[in-house]
Amino acid sequence: MNITKGNIGWIEVVCGPMFSGKSEELIRRLRRAEIARQRVQIFKPAIDQRYSDGHIVSHSDLKINSECVANADELEKKLDWRTEVIGIDEAQFLGEGVVDLVVRLADLGKRIIIAGLDTDYLGRPFHPMPELLAVADEIMKTLAICMQCGNPAKHTQRLVASEELVVVGAAGMYEARCRRCFEPNLAKLQQMKQSAAAAMGKGAEVK
Ligand code: ADP
Ligand code: ZN
Repeated sequence: MNITKGNIGWIEVVCGPMFSGKSEELIRRLRRAEIARQRVQIFKPAIDQRYSDGHIVSHSDLKINSECVANADELEKKLDWRTEVIGIDEAQFLGEGVVDLVVRLADLGKRIIIAGLDTDYLGRPFHPMPELLAVADEIMKTLAICMQCGNPAKHTQRLVASEELVVVGAAGMYEARCRRCFEPNLAKLQQMKQSAAAAMGKGAEVK
């Protein structure tokens, strides 16, 4: 959707859990802008090289060219001043600086389309997404399908043991879960089990 007339800037945010179609929606909007011959630049965080360096790839295998950046400063340096539409995927990995940057770009008349996880593996707001939602002109919240019960899923369930905030991965490491099936402590419990098993293993060696 492009509801702006003339050069009025605009910030759109698409947020939700993993597998909810954020990248698909971002790619759809950016493709339309490209078809309309608007000048488009697309960025993703360097941290997310799951599938491909030079592309954003959705879990359903849609692809679009993109540039990798570590943070907002690098994104700004790579911007061509003629660009009219700026796409950003996985914005939760770009740091707080991205908020100020997108506001400045919108004030300059650019259309910015941002996709990102609104909550982390414990269900907590994933910064800077809350701040981006606050400065956005338009917001879409996408839902996945719960892999346990089939209800609409708003959570990203981590299936592997780790207390790190950022563990980049997809199928097998995470799954979509509804509010009822979401188990935020699952990753922690698994880690405890693993440490206990390791300790027992050591004990056996000592014997
Ligand atoms: P996101 O960017 O939100 O992680 P993607 O746009 O990359 O999502 O992928 C969405 C696609 O993922 C869906 O169209 C579907 O093909 C696939 N998919 C895999 N698991 C699920 C799930 N549990 N619920 C919905 N879609 C899923
Ligand atoms: Zn469920």
